[in-house]
Amino acid sequence: MSYQVVKFGGSNLRDIDGIKKVIQAVKNYNQPLIIVVSAFYGMTNRLINAVEKSAAGKMDIARFTRDIRNQKWLLIQQIIKDKDNLLLDQYCIEFEKRLERLKENLTAVTHLNEVPPEIYDEVLSFGERLSSLTLFYILTYFGVDCCEALPEDIGLFTDGEYKNASVDFERTEIHLRKALSVHKTYIIPGFYGISPDGCTTLLGRGGSDYSAAAIAACLNAQSLDLWKDVEGFLSADPEIVSGTVNVNELTYGEASELSYFGSQILHPRTTEPLAKANIPIRIMDIHQSCEGIRPFTIIHKEEKITSNVVKSVAYSDHFGLLKLSGSGVGIKPGILAKSAVALDDAGINIQSVITSQTAINILLAKKELSKAKNIILQKDIHGISDIGIDSNISVIAAVGQGLVSKAGIAGRIFSAVARKGINIKIICFGASNVAMYFIVDKNNRNETVKEIHDEFFSGEVCCDACV
Ligand code: ASP
Ligand code: MG
Repeated sequence: MSYQVVKFGGSNLRDIDGIKKVIQAVKNYNQPLIIVVSAFYGMTNRLINAVEKSAAGKMDIARFTRDIRNQKWLLIQQIIKDKDNLLLDQYCIEFEKRLERLKENLTAVTHLNEVPPEIYDEVLSFGERLSSLTLFYILTYFGVDCCEALPEDIGLFTDGEYKNASVDFERTEIHLRKALSVHKTYIIPGFYGISPDGCTTLLGRGGSDYSAAAIAACLNAQSLDLWKDVEGFLSADPEIVSGTVNVNELTYGEASELSYFGSQILHPRTTEPLAKANIPIRIMDIHQSCEGIRPFTIIHKEEKITSNVVKSVAYSDHFGLLKLSGSGVGIKPGILAKSAVALDDAGINIQSVITSQTAINILLAKKELSKAKNIILQKDIHGISDIGIDSNISVIAAVGQGLVSKAGIAGRIFSAVARKGINIKIICFGASNVAMYFIVDKNNRNETVKEIHDEFFSGEVCCDACV
């Protein structure tokens, strides 16, 4: 018998209706599960706000925790209706203990007038800690034989980096296999692990998918099932394109490229541990949990070239362009290296680099553009005569196995865009075997996505026909 890991996200845990669907989904499996949960919808943002306000001395901590208590209480009472139920009393006691710890941490921040990283991570982890506790009591009430398992108790270890840690797989694997029985159901809060010295360390925003993936990899699970509130990956964002189709299968590489370039379905780090272990990821839709276990997209290692070649068109508005110009920047050695080191020292992550003889174009998170420009200015790197930034851009990516190896696909993409007279600013083709991306003015984003989608999908009903 092997482990089955499933993850429910914040959008599944929004209200009573969402919780009922989660209970249904858990029951459908009819087998022991390792359940990883995110914070309830919006909770992490509320905790960030609380910790920042506490540091500024502007937080009414008692009121904040009271609001959380009232909300959870309201919710649990809608589920466990019988007021004399012992579970309600136990839940109340455990819940208060956690809330008290949250309060203590926020109070410490108020006294310090700043947020030490270890307290920041500790505070944010309470979204998930309250969520796993609540789900544990709810599932118990519904007859699921389960227990809560906290990362600190089962040994989910990280490298210790605050806010954005990575899982220490070797160490974690040994501990998890000892701590978790294949015959029992566990509820584990996602989003954090424990540093080598025992502190809470977050796995990055949206990191519960990554927690679940790490746990699935360490346990060599049969699959990782991610329950979302959409029908898996689609051929484009249905908000801007009509006639989108489901993408039934993706490789790990295709799924990571789509996540990197803006698809919201999967955290970009989720595939990393699972690809190595060859464990499939199945994307489920919580709205259809009454229909049983039905994956909408399966991510695995099997490479398929569909008749369209392009499987999905993604976009992101989160990138900005830093343009370092100078005659010969492309040929003079050291300019890119010096710039990259300076940005890295400042904690700025370079997302992509495209160079020519006279310009080095660096793609970064838009919110870091001005900071990045100032850093390069201060370094005064010989050979750079001008530093420009462009924040009014969108990155469009076409993703699909065969895109680079098959002739004519890039031509079709660019002809489609050219038909609408849209100007492409920069193209990157060949860096990945399964993706090509280019930059357009943000105003042209929707039309570009639509044109490319129409080029490949008009008349399609299903995109998994293989050639
Ligand atoms: N609650 C965390 C966040 O909002 C982690 C997650 O949802 O995956 O970033
Ligand atoms: Mg989330």
